[in-house]
Amino acid sequence: MRWVLDTGFFLAGMDPMAIGECMITPEVKDEVAKGFPGRKMDYYLDSGLMVVAPSRDSIEKVRRKAKETGDIGRLSDTDISIISLALEMSAGIVSDDYSVQNLCSVLDIPYRSISEDGIREVWVWKYRCTGCKRVFDEPVQECPVCGSPVRSFRSRSKR
Ligand SMILES: [Zn+2]
Repeated sequence: MRWVLDTGFFLAGMDPMAIGECMITPEVKDEVAKGFPGRKMDYYLDSGLMVVAPSRDSIEKVRRKAKETGDIGRLSDTDISIISLALEMSAGIVSDDYSVQNLCSVLDIPYRSISEDGIREVWVWKYRCTGCKRVFDEPVQECPVCGSPVRSFRSRSKR
């Protein structure tokens, strides 16, 4: 299952690498860049987080549906972009936004909330050097001590 992430996901301090295959739109990337340290986003992008723009057709389809449901006034261009991308890629959406979730229901797009307890527990990840096995709380690509690649792993401790 692929997931499209909204801006709130990053602002909540969640780690996209914990979700597996996931993507964002250029609109989300711009919003996150404004409210979040850029270095972390660079790491996520280097680690495989994809930035994909939805097609004009999908955007039109989502806008039409949002007008039908009356959600259009509560949806930003960024909201529209993630719904359009999820529709196009047969992906799910991670968002706490009620209007986004409502449109997902109408369009048969799977979604989940950032604040669901179960998800928080899954998203506790740490980073271990493949060489010297040192463990880091923050994502780093290369071990500052021995220079080996660093991989994420699931940790039992809670945030
Ligand atoms: Zn190391």
